[in-house]
Amino acid sequence: YQENMYFAPLEEREFGVKPMNCPSHCLLYAERKRSYRDLPVRYADFGRLHRAERSGTLHGLTRVRSFSQDDAHIFCTPEQIGSEILGVLRMIDEVYSVFGFSQRKVFLSTRPENSIGTDEMWERAESSLAGALDAAGMAYEINPGDGAFYGPKIDFNFMDALKRWWQLATIQLDFGALPERFDLEYVAADGQPARPVMIHRAVLGTIERFMGILIEHCAGAFPVWLAPVQVKVLTLTERQEDFGREVAQAIEAAGFRVELDDRNEKLGYKIRAAQLEKVPFMLVLGDKEAEARTVAPHTRSGETLPTESVDGFIERLRAAAVPGNG
Ligand code: ZN
Repeated sequence: YQENMYFAPLEEREFGVKPMNCPSHCLLYAERKRSYRDLPVRYADFGRLHRAERSGTLHGLTRVRSFSQDDAHIFCTPEQIGSEILGVLRMIDEVYSVFGFSQRKVFLSTRPENSIGTDEMWERAESSLAGALDAAGMAYEINPGDGAFYGPKIDFNFMDALKRWWQLATIQLDFGALPERFDLEYVAADGQPARPVMIHRAVLGTIERFMGILIEHCAGAFPVWLAPVQVKVLTLTERQEDFGREVAQAIEAAGFRVELDDRNEKLGYKIRAAQLEKVPFMLVLGDKEAEARTVAPHTRSGETLPTESVDGFIERLRAAAVPGNG
């Protein structure tokens, strides 16, 4: 992988900047003696990674040189492959439904021509993956011969709002390459040393790339639960400043992200600014609202909701902030 790495000489030694998590997780696993009773061992890692991509290949947030992945490696026995894969499949399902990606294609890639491992190993691995997909109720297509030389894999493609397909989540089985190179072992039930199977999995993949896709998918209008600012409180004149601060504090105390816009600007200007930022809710406070201690919510799509109490609005916000609702 050297050609895609950054190196830094220091005191006559050359250091490499980490481009992926797999090798370091193997070192963690090998740090002590493992028994079959310790397995599965699961490591998750959001550590910062760096890859020396050529400038011509860089593209917005979707191809960058410094990034992190929601990466994990599971070390398990061959018997545990099915249940471990099923757990990952359920997690992928849950995460993507929260983000509102409903259209997906699942591919199971099988043994290529030049591969390591025995027939028995491949058969067991491929049928464990297929069995887990069936148990998760996921329809899939087979990509014959498209697996890695060290094991089969499952890839998830999701369609965004612009009807483009993106390859995102991935589960890769490795029953030879890295466990072999790092000489990973565990003591099996019969007392003999055995090689663990290594499962590489990423749900969102590279976070920066996923963010780029998500921003385009929702055209910048994040669902309420994810919006960096969920509510803007807009005062009409300085007479509502105190009430405005009070409303913002109540919303913040309820656990939401709120900003008070009490600048000495025209209301139309403030609403326009909040709309451009795609803030889900705007609360306009005039004399009438300050006196009655109510708010008049506007949505980013231009809808005006009925005037209500601050507590009433917080309940509305709570409901809208459930993933899948807003
Ligand atoms: Zn890996």
